[in-house]
Amino acid sequence: MENCVFCKIVKGDLPATVIFENEHVLAFKDINPLAPTHVLLIPKRHMESLDDLPESEAALAGELLLRIKDVAAKLGVTGGYKVVSNCGEAAGQLVYHLHFHILSGKKFVP
Ligand code: AMP
Ligand code: ZN
Repeated sequence: MENCVFCKIVKGDLPATVIFENEHVLAFKDINPLAPTHVLLIPKRHMESLDDLPESEAALAGELLLRIKDVAAKLGVTGGYKVVSNCGEAAGQLVYHLHFHILSGKKFVP
């Protein structure tokens, strides 16, 4: 995807502070952190949002969740963390490449 910011990060065309990477996923620091710890985890392959994740990608869906857990552990978050994926305009999605926010280090109101 030519104009996708996160695809550019995957390709190395845009800088990012990478926390974790494997064949399928990439985790990097959010450029505008909303909490002391704010990392984004994305599939390397472009898909717009959770709505764009096909049935045939159940293995990738599992990979995303399991690596979120690993990244949280790697970040050494204590006292818990929050995982958010904004899906669509009304949810406030700004970047249309599926991503999960991993947030920690402050008290969140449910
Ligand atoms: P949203 O689409 O609303 O879930 O949020 C997109 C998130 O991506 C925001 O928290 C931005 O701060 C973050 N973001 C946008 N561009 C970059 C970038 N180049 N590097 C890191 N994070 C980014
Ligand atoms: Zn993309």
